[in-house]
Amino acid sequence: NQPDPDIEVIKDHLKNIKYKILVLSGKGGVGKSTVCGQISYALAAQYESQNKQIGALDIDICGPSLPQVFGVQGEQVHQSGSGWSPIFVDENLSLMSIGFLLPSLEDAVIWRGPKKNGMIKQFLRDVDWEELEYLLVDTPPGTSDEHLSIVQYLKPAGLTGAIIVTTPQEVSLLDVRKEITFCKKVGVPIIGVVENMSGFACPKCKIESKIFPPSTGGAEKMCEEMNVTFLGKVPIDPLIGQCCDEGKSFVKEFPNSPASLAYKNIITKI
Ligand code: ADP
Repeated sequence: NQPDPDIEVIKDHLKNIKYKILVLSGKGGVGKSTVCGQISYALAAQYESQNKQIGALDIDICGPSLPQVFGVQGEQVHQSGSGWSPIFVDENLSLMSIGFLLPSLEDAVIWRGPKKNGMIKQFLRDVDWEELEYLLVDTPPGTSDEHLSIVQYLKPAGLTGAIIVTTPQEVSLLDVRKEITFCKKVGVPIIGVVENMSGFACPKCKIESKIFPPSTGGAEKMCEEMNVTFLGKVPIDPLIGQCCDEGKSFVKEFPNSPASLAYKNIITKI
C-alpha cells in the first residue's frame, strides 16, 4: 500500500490556509449549509478590515447548496495558470462548489465512490485560494465516502477540526452522536456543536415557542455528556431562509437579530 503522492501535493498547496474546518451534520435538512454559509459571511465581515480572506468549499456532491446561499449560482469557474479560480461572493469571501461544474442547475450528480474521491482530491489540489484565514468545507450529511476522502487529504494538511450542526430533536441528536464517534475514530478534533432551529420567537407576541422540543435536554446536554464543546443555539428565523434563497448575508442584513448575534458569538469560539 503506497501512500497517495497527492497527499504531499495537497499539503503544500493548502499551506497558506490558516484554519481548515469541516461542517458536518448527522442528518440532511438540519441547516448545515445555512450555518456554513452564515458563519462564512460572519467571518468575512469580522476579517474585512484586516484584509483577510475567507473561503468556502462545497463538497456536497449530491446537493450543493452554497452557490444559492451565496447568490452565485450559474457562475462559471475559470481555469488560471495556477488552477481553478474560486468565485468571489464579496471582497474577501470566495466559494468553490461542485455546483459550478454541473451543466445546468437541474442536473444531478450520480457518482460512485472513486469518482467522488477524485473530485474532492481535485478540489483540494487545484483550487487557487492563495492565502486564507479560514476555509470552511460544507460536506454531505452523515458519514460517507466524501468524509473519508476529505479527512484523508485534509488531515495531513493540518485540519483544524469539525463543527457539527444539529436540531434539538432526539432524531437529529442520535445521528450527531454517530458523527462525534466518527470524528473520534478518524482523529478529527471536534471544535463544537451548533444547535440550529432552536426555538422561534414570534415577532408579534415576542413569546418563544419550542418548535422542536428536545425530549432529552437538547444539544447542550448531549455535549456535556459526550465532553464536547457547545458552540451555541441559532433560533428559527424565517428571514434566514429568505436571505439564503436570495443569496444575501443574513448577518449583514439583520445584524441585531438574535440569530445574527448567535452566529457572531459562534465565530468567537472557532
Ligand atoms: P442542510 O444543509 O442540513 O441540508 P439547509 O442549510 O439546506 O440544511 O437548511 C434546510 C432549510 O432550512 C433551508 O430552507 C434553510 O433556509 C432553512 N433553515 C436553516 N436554518 C434555519 C433557521 N435557523 N431559521 C429558519 N430557516 C432555516
